[in-house]
Amino acid sequence: MKGLQCPKALFLNVYKPRLKTPFSAETKALMTDGRKFEATVREAFLPAIDVSKTLGPKFAAYAQFTKGCLAKEGDLTLFEAGLEHNKVLVLVDMLKRIGNCYELYEIKRSTQLTPSILNDAAMQYVVAKNVLQAPIQSFVVLRVNEYDYQITDISQAVASLAPSITAEIEQQLQILAQGKEPLIATGPQCNSPYPCDFKSYCGGLLL
Ligand code: SF4
Repeated sequence: MKGLQCPKALFLNVYKPRLKTPFSAETKALMTDGRKFEATVREAFLPAIDVSKTLGPKFAAYAQFTKGCLAKEGDLTLFEAGLEHNKVLVLVDMLKRIGNCYELYEIKRSTQLTPSILNDAAMQYVVAKNVLQAPIQSFVVLRVNEYDYQITDISQAVASLAPSITAEIEQQLQILAQGKEPLIATGPQCNSPYPCDFKSYCGGLLL
Protein backbone atom coordinates (compact mmCIF):
# COMPACT_ATOMS: atom_id res chain seq x y z
CA MET A 1 0.00 0.00 0.00
CA LYS A 2 3.06 2.25 0.01
CA GLY A 3 2.26 3.36 -3.53
CA LEU A 4 -1.07 4.85 -2.45
CA GLN A 5 0.76 7.15 -0.05
CA CYS A 6 3.49 8.05 -2.55
CA PRO A 7 4.64 6.42 -5.83
CA LYS A 8 8.22 7.30 -4.96
CA ALA A 9 7.96 5.40 -1.65
CA LEU A 10 6.77 2.36 -3.60
CA PHE A 11 9.72 2.63 -6.00
CA LEU A 12 12.26 3.09 -3.20
CA ASN A 13 10.79 0.23 -1.19
CA VAL A 14 11.26 -2.14 -4.14
CA TYR A 15 14.53 -0.88 -5.63
CA LYS A 16 16.39 0.89 -2.80
CA PRO A 17 15.15 -0.50 0.52
CA ARG A 18 18.57 0.17 2.10
CA LEU A 19 17.66 3.88 2.12
CA LYS A 20 14.98 3.37 4.76
CA THR A 21 15.50 5.13 8.07
CA PRO A 22 15.80 2.54 10.86
CA PHE A 23 12.71 2.39 13.08
CA SER A 24 12.72 4.73 16.07
CA ALA A 25 12.24 3.38 19.61
CA GLU A 26 8.70 4.82 19.57
CA THR A 27 7.82 3.05 16.31
CA LYS A 28 9.27 -0.21 17.62
CA ALA A 29 7.14 0.09 20.77
CA LEU A 30 4.00 0.66 18.65
CA MET A 31 4.86 -2.37 16.51
CA THR A 32 5.33 -4.55 19.61
CA ASP A 33 1.99 -3.35 20.94
CA GLY A 34 0.37 -4.13 17.57
CA ARG A 35 1.79 -7.66 17.60
CA LYS A 36 0.50 -8.26 21.13
CA PHE A 37 -2.95 -7.09 20.10
CA GLU A 38 -2.86 -9.35 17.06
CA ALA A 39 -1.87 -12.33 19.22
CA THR A 40 -4.78 -11.64 21.58
CA VAL A 41 -7.28 -11.61 18.70
CA ARG A 42 -5.79 -14.72 17.11
CA GLU A 43 -6.30 -16.79 20.27
CA ALA A 44 -10.03 -16.76 19.54
CA PHE A 45 -9.40 -18.20 16.04
CA LEU A 46 -7.28 -21.23 16.99
CA PRO A 47 -6.56 -23.85 15.76
CA ALA A 48 -4.78 -22.27 12.81
CA ILE A 49 -1.69 -22.57 10.65
CA ASP A 50 0.64 -19.64 11.27
CA VAL A 51 2.50 -19.14 7.99
CA SER A 52 4.84 -16.55 9.51
CA LYS A 53 5.95 -19.01 12.21
CA THR A 54 6.93 -21.52 9.52
CA LEU A 55 8.58 -19.15 7.04
CA GLY A 56 9.71 -16.12 9.05
CA PRO A 57 11.13 -13.46 6.68
CA LYS A 58 11.10 -15.71 3.58
CA PHE A 59 8.26 -13.71 2.01
CA ALA A 60 8.90 -15.05 -1.49
CA ALA A 61 7.73 -18.46 -0.24
CA TYR A 62 4.49 -17.33 1.47
CA ALA A 63 2.18 -17.64 -1.54
CA GLN A 64 3.38 -21.11 -2.48
CA PHE A 65 3.14 -22.36 1.11
CA THR A 66 -0.38 -20.91 1.43
CA LYS A 67 -1.39 -22.54 -1.84
CA GLY A 68 -0.26 -25.89 -0.43
CA CYS A 69 -2.34 -25.39 2.71
CA LEU A 70 -5.42 -24.41 0.67
CA ALA A 71 -5.04 -27.48 -1.55
CA LYS A 72 -6.07 -29.65 1.40
CA GLU A 73 -9.79 -30.21 1.86
CA GLY A 74 -11.90 -28.87 4.70
CA ASP A 75 -12.36 -25.74 6.76
CA LEU A 76 -9.19 -24.06 7.96
CA THR A 77 -7.69 -20.87 9.31
CA LEU A 78 -4.34 -19.39 8.28
CA PHE A 79 -2.46 -16.56 9.99
CA GLU A 80 -0.39 -14.34 7.64
CA ALA A 81 -1.62 -16.18 4.55
CA GLY A 82 0.29 -15.12 1.43
CA LEU A 83 -1.78 -14.53 -1.72
CA GLU A 84 -0.19 -13.38 -4.97
CA HIS A 85 -1.73 -12.21 -8.23
CA ASN A 86 -0.35 -10.03 -11.03
CA LYS A 87 2.97 -9.59 -9.14
CA VAL A 88 1.18 -8.27 -6.05
CA LEU A 89 1.70 -10.23 -2.83
CA VAL A 90 -0.59 -9.55 0.12
CA LEU A 91 -0.28 -11.05 3.58
CA VAL A 92 -3.69 -11.55 5.18
CA ASP A 93 -3.70 -11.30 8.99
CA MET A 94 -6.27 -14.12 9.15
CA LEU A 95 -7.80 -16.11 6.31
CA LYS A 96 -10.64 -18.48 7.13
CA ARG A 97 -12.20 -21.00 4.77
CA ILE A 98 -15.67 -22.21 5.66
CA GLY A 99 -17.10 -24.56 3.06
CA ASN A 100 -16.55 -22.86 -0.30
CA CYS A 101 -16.41 -19.34 1.15
CA TYR A 102 -13.52 -17.32 2.53
CA GLU A 103 -13.25 -14.66 5.21
CA LEU A 104 -10.43 -12.10 5.30
CA TYR A 105 -9.59 -10.40 8.59
CA GLU A 106 -7.46 -7.28 8.90
CA ILE A 107 -6.33 -6.72 12.51
CA LYS A 108 -5.48 -3.15 13.54
CA ARG A 109 -4.62 -1.80 16.96
CA SER A 110 -6.41 1.42 15.97
CA THR A 111 -9.79 2.25 17.49
CA GLN A 112 -10.95 3.99 14.28
CA LEU A 113 -11.78 2.57 10.86
CA THR A 114 -9.68 4.89 8.67
CA PRO A 115 -9.54 5.23 4.85
CA SER A 116 -6.07 3.65 4.82
CA ILE A 117 -7.35 0.57 6.70
CA LEU A 118 -10.17 0.26 4.16
CA ASN A 119 -7.67 0.62 1.29
CA ASP A 120 -5.47 -2.11 2.81
CA ALA A 121 -8.47 -4.39 3.12
CA ALA A 122 -9.57 -3.58 -0.44
CA MET A 123 -6.11 -4.45 -1.83
CA GLN A 124 -6.28 -7.81 -0.05
CA TYR A 125 -9.80 -8.38 -1.35
CA VAL A 126 -8.78 -7.66 -4.97
CA VAL A 127 -5.86 -10.09 -4.82
CA ALA A 128 -7.83 -12.73 -2.89
CA LYS A 129 -10.75 -12.56 -5.32
CA ASN A 130 -8.39 -13.33 -8.21
CA VAL A 131 -6.53 -16.10 -6.41
CA LEU A 132 -9.39 -17.85 -4.63
CA GLN A 133 -12.17 -17.43 -7.23
CA ALA A 134 -14.79 -17.85 -4.51
CA PRO A 135 -17.21 -15.75 -2.41
CA ILE A 136 -15.27 -13.56 0.03
CA GLN A 137 -16.29 -11.55 3.08
CA SER A 138 -13.98 -8.92 4.57
CA PHE A 139 -13.75 -8.01 8.25
CA VAL A 140 -11.73 -5.57 10.29
CA VAL A 141 -10.78 -6.18 13.91
CA LEU A 142 -10.28 -2.92 15.82
CA ARG A 143 -9.29 -2.28 19.39
CA VAL A 144 -12.04 -1.05 21.71
CA ASN A 145 -9.83 -0.70 24.79
CA GLU A 146 -6.84 -2.41 26.36
CA TYR A 147 -8.76 -5.66 26.86
CA ASP A 148 -11.40 -5.72 24.20
CA TYR A 149 -11.81 -5.65 20.43
CA GLN A 150 -14.62 -5.42 17.92
CA ILE A 151 -15.07 -7.28 14.61
CA THR A 152 -16.88 -5.35 11.85
CA ASP A 153 -18.04 -6.64 8.48
CA ILE A 154 -16.62 -4.24 5.85
CA SER A 155 -17.43 -6.40 2.81
CA GLN A 156 -19.58 -3.78 1.07
CA ALA A 157 -17.15 -0.91 1.54
CA VAL A 158 -14.25 -3.05 0.37
CA ALA A 159 -16.07 -4.35 -2.72
CA SER A 160 -16.99 -0.80 -3.74
CA LEU A 161 -13.32 0.24 -3.50
CA ALA A 162 -12.16 -2.73 -5.59
CA PRO A 163 -12.35 -1.04 -9.05
CA SER A 164 -10.24 1.96 -7.98
CA ILE A 165 -7.73 -0.28 -6.20
CA THR A 166 -7.46 -2.47 -9.32
CA ALA A 167 -6.69 0.63 -11.41
CA GLU A 168 -4.17 1.76 -8.78
CA ILE A 169 -2.37 -1.59 -8.91
CA GLU A 170 -2.00 -1.26 -12.70
CA GLN A 171 -0.56 2.25 -12.32
CA GLN A 172 1.89 1.12 -9.65
CA LEU A 173 3.05 -1.82 -11.76
CA GLN A 174 3.75 0.62 -14.61
CA ILE A 175 5.86 2.82 -12.32
CA LEU A 176 7.87 -0.20 -11.22
CA ALA A 177 8.25 -1.46 -14.80
CA GLN A 178 9.67 1.91 -15.92
CA GLY A 179 12.46 1.44 -13.36
CA LYS A 180 12.94 5.22 -12.94
CA GLU A 181 12.70 6.88 -9.55
CA PRO A 182 9.67 9.23 -9.69
CA LEU A 183 10.51 12.90 -9.14
CA ILE A 184 8.29 13.83 -6.22
CA ALA A 185 8.99 16.59 -3.70
CA THR A 186 8.42 16.06 0.01
CA GLY A 187 5.03 17.27 1.26
CA PRO A 188 2.03 16.33 3.40
CA GLN A 189 2.09 12.80 1.96
CA CYS A 190 5.35 12.12 3.85
CA ASN A 191 3.41 11.86 7.13
CA SER A 192 -0.02 10.74 6.03
CA PRO A 193 -1.42 8.23 6.71
CA TYR A 194 1.93 7.03 8.15
CA PRO A 195 5.37 8.63 8.59
CA CYS A 196 7.30 7.50 5.49
CA ASP A 197 10.38 5.32 5.95
CA PHE A 198 12.33 7.38 3.39
CA LYS A 199 12.00 10.85 4.92
CA SER A 200 15.72 11.11 5.71
CA TYR A 201 16.66 10.24 2.13
CA CYS A 202 14.10 12.53 0.45
CA GLY A 203 14.72 15.36 2.92
CA GLY A 204 18.34 15.51 1.74
CA LEU A 205 17.48 15.77 -1.97
CA LEU A 206 17.11 18.96 -3.95
CA LEU A 207 14.27 18.65 -6.46
S1 SF4 B 1 9.56 10.91 2.12
FE1 SF4 B 1 7.78 11.79 1.11
S2 SF4 B 1 8.40 12.14 -1.02
FE2 SF4 B 1 9.90 10.74 -0.10
S3 SF4 B 1 9.16 8.73 -0.65
FE3 SF4 B 1 8.34 9.20 1.37
S4 SF4 B 1 6.33 10.09 1.01
FE4 SF4 B 1 7.44 10.12 -0.95
